[in-house]
Amino acid sequence: MKAIVIGAGLAGSEAAYQLAKRGVEVKLFEMRPVKLTPAHRTGNFAELVCSNSLKSKDIYNAHGLLKAELKRLDSLIMKAAEFAELPGGKALVVDREKFSGFITETLESFKNIEIVREEVQEIPEDEIVIVASGPLTSDPLAKSLQEILGVEYLSFFDALSPIVDAESLNFEKLYYKDRHGWDDSSYLNVPMNEEEYYRFYEALINAEVYMGHDFEKGEKAKYFEGCLPIEEMARRGPETLRYGPLRGSGLPDPRTGKEPFAVVQLRPENAEKTAFSLVGFQTQLKIPEQRRVFRMIPGLENAKFLRYGAVHRNTFIKAPAVMLPTLQTKVKENLFIAGQLVGTEGYVEAAMGGLVAGINAFLLLSGHEPVKFPIHTMIGALLDYIANSDPKHFQPMNANIGLFKEIPPKIKKKNRREFIVKRAQETLEEWIKQSKIF
Ligand SMILES: Cc1cc2nc3c(=O)[nH]c(=O)nc-3n(C[C@H](O)[C@H](O)[C@H](O)COP(=O)(O)OP(=O)(O)OC[C@H]3O[C@@H](n4cnc5c(N)ncnc54)[C@H](O)[C@@H]3O)c2cc1C
Repeated sequence: MKAIVIGAGLAGSEAAYQLAKRGVEVKLFEMRPVKLTPAHRTGNFAELVCSNSLKSKDIYNAHGLLKAELKRLDSLIMKAAEFAELPGGKALVVDREKFSGFITETLESFKNIEIVREEVQEIPEDEIVIVASGPLTSDPLAKSLQEILGVEYLSFFDALSPIVDAESLNFEKLYYKDRHGWDDSSYLNVPMNEEEYYRFYEALINAEVYMGHDFEKGEKAKYFEGCLPIEEMARRGPETLRYGPLRGSGLPDPRTGKEPFAVVQLRPENAEKTAFSLVGFQTQLKIPEQRRVFRMIPGLENAKFLRYGAVHRNTFIKAPAVMLPTLQTKVKENLFIAGQLVGTEGYVEAAMGGLVAGINAFLLLSGHEPVKFPIHTMIGALLDYIANSDPKHFQPMNANIGLFKEIPPKIKKKNRREFIVKRAQETLEEWIKQSKIF
């Protein structure tokens, strides 16, 4: 049994693992480090290109539920996240190098995975192929996919937050506290008084913005609301940031006992706390402008930037027009697409696609029907959106409770979440028992 996986990101790494552990001979193509994407920096598999948070761990949150389902199905990405976990309060925050190092080493240790560091330019015809080349799929491969699927690509822009060196911060002005009181060592807070806040706000909205790479020119920027550039958010009104990422509620300054006018939160990038990212500070500002404006934040006057914010293209297909909920394409049953490219949004969601495509490619290889995950699970609800939503208005989607269907009207609003989560867990267990594939 043989399969090809294109791209060793979050989805491709998970897919390769699911295939290899079931005895399939896998050829895993990854173009890095020979050719980097505009956002990746290393040759490691499953590199996290922006935040080091995999979002909520709380089972009553859609992201937490998705993680629990993936863990139940033996996900490599979940194993790596547990191995590389850092203190992060409610969120599953990881040391990005440990995380991708674990995944790279695990896949390298499989004798039945052949790793090929090469850019794939054309999708192989007659083999079982999983395309997991992500939102920054290289141009020739995107073209090859377009030729097979016959649909137009869409694109919009995501933005990265800057990372600063801990040694360059003035800790006398900062304090540790978690807004929800889960773990007070997980966020470093920068209090701002009224004057400091408005001075920063004025500089931010008037700063010069970078207009994008050559490949992005001429395209209309369509932002994903969850990753809106900070200056774009600020332009919506002088108070928007104070009620958004810079809100002071739940973060009293221990020196005054009062909640500051505004607070910038810094999240540790590793267990040693040698680097911090500015929470919610995804940005399109030009690099010298980032230095000038972000150094106006108290305590960051001498900040050394380890990574600047940036914007990048995001490529995805019009999935409902061309995909089945098994993650097979409608035109070719042996061609699977997984990850951000198929229209899920987020790291864990990408891993979910890899897991499903890996299992289904194995089933196809072993002469069985690929499976459709039940729609009452978080995995099934997301796949239902991918395959069955309106193709005309299709946009990438992350895990969220709103995707669940068939909630009996008698369930009261306050009990909905509990009902959905309980039903999802019971449905998955029952389905695992019945399907006899795990
Ligand atoms: C700039 C940016 C920031 C993001 N920030 C976040 C965030 O903070 N949180 C979040 O949850 N999600 C974020 N996302 C969305 C998404 O979760 C990530 O992009 C995620 O990495 C998607 O996983 P993937 O496996 O689909 O793609 P990737 O992880 O990008 O993996 C695809 C792999 O395919 C390789 N590849 C591409 N073309 C070829 C080819 N022709 N041949 C061989 N290999 C190829 C690439 O090198 C890459 O390793 C962000 C996306 C972008 C673009």
